[in-house]
Amino acid sequence: MELIKYPDPVLFQKCPDAEMSDETASLLNEMSQKLYEWEGAGLAAPQVGILKRMVVIDIRETPQRLYKLINPRINWKSEEMVESNEGCLSLPLLRDKISRHESVVVEYFDENFEKQEIHTTGFLSCCLQHELDHLNGILFINRLSKLKRSRALRRFKKLQSEKPIEEQNKNP
Ligand SMILES: [Zn+2]
Repeated sequence: MELIKYPDPVLFQKCPDAEMSDETASLLNEMSQKLYEWEGAGLAAPQVGILKRMVVIDIRETPQRLYKLINPRINWKSEEMVESNEGCLSLPLLRDKISRHESVVVEYFDENFEKQEIHTTGFLSCCLQHELDHLNGILFINRLSKLKRSRALRRFKKLQSEKPIEEQNKNP
């Protein structure tokens, strides 16, 4: 699995559902390994070139918990919004303030194909919304106003030209 980076068109595709199969479960395992290797908080399948609705998340809380989500969907979101500084493995080094729903309820199937629900708030809520956006071909910069997005992309190009290649492969 290779990390797909902006502006690869794969990142802008809407993904179809994943099948409940051994292949899906083993892809989730491989994605989890890559999540730790690349030191991200979350990784969505299109970021490794797979157009299927699959996500892995570990926000490194104590106790540590790795979520493997198949066909996740947001069932409820709070009206309250919260702003946080987001980054993305597919846009190395770039960070920007993004507004998200403070709380969400996400329904998904786990790696044993059992239906699960996460009720959460704060960082995990924002992280889930960020990863689920990837499954619809939406990057965090698409959540910025047009002006802020063009500024962010200018900053991104500058960062990419300044940093040596090894640095670009690490998450900020
Ligand atoms: Zn991302």
